[in-house]
Amino acid sequence: MATKVKQFQAEAKRLLDLVVNSIYTNKEIFLRELISNASDAIDKIYYKALTDDSVAFNKDDYYIRIIPDREKRTLTISDTGIGMTEKELEENLGVIAQSGSLAFKQAHEIKDGYELIGQFGVGFYSAFMVADTVTVKSRALGSEQGYCWESSGAEGYTIKPCEKETVGTDIILKLKENTEDENYDEYLNEYRLHLLIKKYSDFIRYPIKMKVTKTRLLQKGEEKEYETYEEEEIINSMVPIWNKNKNELTKEDYENFYSEKRYGFGKPQKYIHINAEGTVSYRTILYIPEKMPFDFYTTEYKKGLELYANGVLVMENCAELLPDYFAFAKGMVDSDDLSLNISREMLQHDRQLQLIAKNIRSKIKNELENMLKNEREEYENFFRNFGRLLKFGIYAELGRNKDFLQDLLLFHSSRDDGYVTLEEYVQRMPAEQKYIYYIAGESVDRIKKLPQTELVAEKGYEILYFTDDIDEFAVRMLGKYKDKEFKSVTSDDLGLVDAEDKETERHAELFKEMTEILKDKVKKVRAAKRLKSHPVCLATEGELTIEMEKVLNAMPNSPGIKAQRILEINTEHPVFQALEKAYAGDQEKFQLYTDLLYNQALLIEGLPVEDPLAFSEKICKMMV
Ligand code: ADP
Repeated sequence: MATKVKQFQAEAKRLLDLVVNSIYTNKEIFLRELISNASDAIDKIYYKALTDDSVAFNKDDYYIRIIPDREKRTLTISDTGIGMTEKELEENLGVIAQSGSLAFKQAHEIKDGYELIGQFGVGFYSAFMVADTVTVKSRALGSEQGYCWESSGAEGYTIKPCEKETVGTDIILKLKENTEDENYDEYLNEYRLHLLIKKYSDFIRYPIKMKVTKTRLLQKGEEKEYETYEEEEIINSMVPIWNKNKNELTKEDYENFYSEKRYGFGKPQKYIHINAEGTVSYRTILYIPEKMPFDFYTTEYKKGLELYANGVLVMENCAELLPDYFAFAKGMVDSDDLSLNISREMLQHDRQLQLIAKNIRSKIKNELENMLKNEREEYENFFRNFGRLLKFGIYAELGRNKDFLQDLLLFHSSRDDGYVTLEEYVQRMPAEQKYIYYIAGESVDRIKKLPQTELVAEKGYEILYFTDDIDEFAVRMLGKYKDKEFKSVTSDDLGLVDAEDKETERHAELFKEMTEILKDKVKKVRAAKRLKSHPVCLATEGELTIEMEKVLNAMPNSPGIKAQRILEINTEHPVFQALEKAYAGDQEKFQLYTDLLYNQALLIEGLPVEDPLAFSEKICKMMV
């Protein structure tokens, strides 16, 4: 009976198309990807064997074997890992893992998806970069029956029962025919394979075995003769990279480990290698990714580090090791002081683990501080990717970590196009400046044009530009920096010496009348404190600014909070004279002007006018 050919899930099919037709030149990484998978599978069975008495344990049983076969033009990667059941073959190789799928979707929206594919691990599918047909024979731990998955690319795949004597997985690649540009034979060449294993997989902790050709000298009577023979050898050094001395390792080693582990796309921006002995001893390699993962600011992204107990992987994603505000960090921790049987519930209370987490936290901070101090551009790149997370960190947990994080913040400002730190801001404040001024808005370009900045800017004071929703909330949580309070330039009290109060008094009657016309819309109308050339703007009184109002009201189930609005009129502006004239003689016109000015202020603020139709009618009325 013919086995039914199953279709790949749509996304897997697209990815396969891309991989098969990939113009990506670095095809050789398929070997790293498959060896990585094999090593992961051994990690899983190794852990089982150590913690489950029913699984026999013999260290020598765990290895990866590479078998090139020149006659059949196949390359086999065989492991003694945990294997896959029929269902797992279907689920793991017929679809793309959740996280991968998201990355893929995003990558695909970018036109040159091809390049991107090459940059992140495509895992198992990379096999199709070099093979026409991929056969996976696998027998899962605890199962007597093996299953064979086979596919020749995008048309689909088949799964059927097959002979498999031992638990584990064989991946058999039927290599593509050579083309003008590509010589696939090289993946049958033992010397080349040797190089590739050394280059990408040297630190895999299980032996990677391969038969190699050797020569020996034979003594035949008087004659000496060279004879070639084959012998299986362990190709990799097997010492996990984190157990090596830092000075034995190169940047490339760390970068290879980053790719091998698929911690992120491309290269890491920074790595930290710590070998700690003391109250708690552990080794860790941490990375700060250079690129933001596609799913970073979504719920799909899972923070955490790999956790090893004495070289055995006990948890793939230990979230307890990282605070939320450093969720971008990737890497692993290996400690001799942890129990193999540590469970998720125990983790929260494990003192050793808490100590490690605390150390890691300060190491990451040190690294960021160093970067900020010595490699400003690199830090700015980091901040563009992950800065929002730091701001959330300041706001979260009732501001518990604000002191720890505040000096890592960067903001745009009126000073120049780059970023400033709070410290830089405060340092260059003129002596008489009372507050740290800021203004929030959608984008730097928009903020620059907001009239509320006029007066403060004219005084020569720098204004921080807040473009992230979270910014204003974060500085509210900070309250002060180096004893200087944060102040929105739209707030009631700007701490400037002002003649405007007198102006407000002088026109008290007029403003009172305007306030009545605008009844529920504004708390009061008064002479502008912060305007130079614009006729009107909105200011606010109290804790809440209009930007905060926008953010809060955009949240689901928002209670409909309103900032206390103040309409400010520039009494120097010609429009004000027109207003005064109307006030003196034409009540209807006065009402019309009041309403128009209020709506203008809304528009400037990026808020919708309250009744567009009425607004438009009123403008027409003025024109005719
Ligand atoms: P990833 O490794 O990133 O999850 P892959 O496409 O490389 O994605 O593999 C998908 C899944 O298939 C793996 O997560 C694993 O569960 C399974 N798998 C792949 N290779 C092996 C193997 N040699 N042994 C056991 N399971 C494997």
